[in-house]
Amino acid sequence: MMPREKYKDKAENLYKQVDAYNLVENLETCLACGKCVGNCPVASLNPSYNPRQIISDVMSGEARRWLDSEEIWRCFWCAGCYTVCPNDIHFPLLMMQIRYMAVENNWGLKYIMPFKRFALRAREDGLTFAPSEKGREKIKRYRRNLGVSEWPEISAKAQAEYKELFDLTGTTEFLEKLSDEAERPVRFKYLEGRIVGE
Ligand code: SF4
Ligand code: SF4
Repeated sequence: MMPREKYKDKAENLYKQVDAYNLVENLETCLACGKCVGNCPVASLNPSYNPRQIISDVMSGEARRWLDSEEIWRCFWCAGCYTVCPNDIHFPLLMMQIRYMAVENNWGLKYIMPFKRFALRAREDGLTFAPSEKGREKIKRYRRNLGVSEWPEISAKAQAEYKELFDLTGTTEFLEKLSDEAERPVRFKYLEGRIVGE
C-alpha cells in the first residue's frame, strides 16, 4: 500500500481548477457534517466512497487520489447528497467536473468512450441510436398504433441547432480529443493508500 503522501498533488487554487465552470461556488462552506455520506447509496454499499472526504481533498489540493480512483465513476448522480446538505453544496456538479478532469488526464476513459459514439451520432443525426432493421420495424409498428408518424422526424433546422450547441459548448472538440491516447489505469478504491487513522 502506498502512503498517502505519495499521491499529494498540491496545486494553488485546485478547487477553482476543479470547479472550472463555477458551478459549485460554496464548497468552502462545507461543515463536514457527513449528511451527504449518510444519504449516499454508493457510500452505504462501499464505505471507501465518501463525498465529504472528496470535498475535503478538493479543498486541500489532494487531487491525484480521486482523479485516478475508479470509485468516482460509481456516483450515479441521484443527488441524494445535495438534497440533505444544510448548505446546498451541489456535490453532483462537483463530481461531474472531477470526472471531466480525470478524463482529461486519461483516467476513466473506459467509462466514457462507449458514449462517444452515441454523442457523435446525436450531433450528426439528432438521434442517439440506430436500431436494427427488426427493431426499426417494431418501433414503426408501435408508433403507427399510437397514431404518430412512423419514425421521429427531425427538422433540418433542429438538427443544425443541435450541431451548433455541440460545437459552441466545446462538446465536439472534447469528444474528438477523447481518443487514441493510452488509458491510465485507475485504482479500485478511493481511500487506497490512506494512512489508517488519518
Ligand atoms: S452534507 Fe454538505 S455540509 Fe455536510 S459534509 Fe456533506 S457537503 Fe459538507
Ligand atoms: S449523487 Fe453521487 S455522491 Fe451524491 S448521493 Fe448520489 S451517488 Fe452519492
